[in-house]
Amino acid sequence: MSRPKKNQTPAEPPVKHSRQNHKIQTLKGFKDVLPEQQKFWNFVFEKVKDTADDYSFQKIDTPILESASLFQRTLGEETDIVGKEMYTFTDKSGELVTLRPEMTAPVARAYIEHGMVSWPQPVKLWYWASLYRHENPQAGRYREHHQFGYEILGGKEPTLDAELVIIAYGLYKSFGLEPEIEINSIGCQSCRKEYIKLLKKYFKDKKVCETCTNRLEKNPLRVLDCKENKCQENLKSAPQIIDYLCEDCKNHFVRLLEILDENSITYNLNPYLVRGLDYYNGTVFEIFVKGNDESRIALGGGGRYDYLIEQIGGRATPALGFAGGVERVVIKLKELGLEIKDEGHGDVFVAQLGDEARKKCMKLFNELRKQSIKTREAFNKKGLTEQLEIANRLKVKYALILGQKEIMEGTIIIRDMDSGVQEIIDFDKVIPEVKKRLLGLNGLKVYSENRITDN
Ligand code: AMP
Repeated sequence: MSRPKKNQTPAEPPVKHSRQNHKIQTLKGFKDVLPEQQKFWNFVFEKVKDTADDYSFQKIDTPILESASLFQRTLGEETDIVGKEMYTFTDKSGELVTLRPEMTAPVARAYIEHGMVSWPQPVKLWYWASLYRHENPQAGRYREHHQFGYEILGGKEPTLDAELVIIAYGLYKSFGLEPEIEINSIGCQSCRKEYIKLLKKYFKDKKVCETCTNRLEKNPLRVLDCKENKCQENLKSAPQIIDYLCEDCKNHFVRLLEILDENSITYNLNPYLVRGLDYYNGTVFEIFVKGNDESRIALGGGGRYDYLIEQIGGRATPALGFAGGVERVVIKLKELGLEIKDEGHGDVFVAQLGDEARKKCMKLFNELRKQSIKTREAFNKKGLTEQLEIANRLKVKYALILGQKEIMEGTIIIRDMDSGVQEIIDFDKVIPEVKKRLLGLNGLKVYSENRITDN
């Protein structure tokens, strides 16, 4: 091999492969969502969106990649996410960037960047986003997962906290799940400071795990949700933050609980609930569902982050939010065997026999679609039996069959796929005829308001 000449960049070393043409697979902790799973994802998405519409949330999308400092400055250096899990790297222009591990900080950034402070307050935004955390993959834990969320920015009333809990509760109910709510208040900057002093004092002569020794130094509240036995034992008689809330925080929390009671929302007061991230204050809550072995699965969580917007350069703006994991809901829905209607199938299948019929059917297919009639086809197939089998699989209500004879006579066959009854109708009348039959099946309201206007 010749040596590179002076000033010439040496060639990149060859990439080593254990096998030639080896199979390339998804990265560890990443996954594909295959067509047969889409109905679950669509089901969840539709419910999330309907809920957003009901409560007047507007959708926001933010970039997958953000400046690393957005998360480093807000989530807390000592949190697992910032400490161990972020996909952070220097890009080609030398900027330190991060694949978003959560959505609250990006939404807060967007609130500032787009001057939403001058919009009518509170600003209510919802999202559906992929997130990246370099965790140890296991059941229901991925390195890329998806969350939906609702954020309310610019509002401090406890009614908003209550609304968010009610939204989350109602949403999980609408999935057909039995959500269990855990709720707590971790106070404001001033009452929390006092409580932390007490907590440190309490733990001073207690034996705690290595992680908690560190936490007591840097992020003492996190000691409260340690799962290690020896820490749990100590927690039993530790001071509880709820007893040390200042008047304002106490009143806020009591009002929130009263509203939940008024709305018959059951919850469990959990004095150890702190949530993992530094930006939270005041109300914090999490939603669980029972696993099939009586274990509990965390489905989502939220709370107030009244200091976050100021922390990243905005005006002091009280705010709160809730985020839920999509994959965990999908896993649970499948586990429960909930019947989810596959919305993918159409109303009508266009079947053709011969080149001439195919041409006419392609035109008819587009005309039906223009009329918002869900139409399916298999123009690459020639045999009628094969096409009708596909129509059957797609569970369409009617097949329209066109062959040479029908072209000559100016007709088309309409076949009811449930009964197998076939009728011959005028080709020119096929669209009004299909509409009429679908109206009868689906009810005038749905078709006249949303899909088909009868003429
Ligand atoms: P968090 O942002 O950590 O509060 O998570 C909110 C919800 O997202 C959790 O309750 C889980 O349902 C889900 N979630 C969090 N991390 C993961 C992950 N690595 N894989 C799958 N789902 C996750």
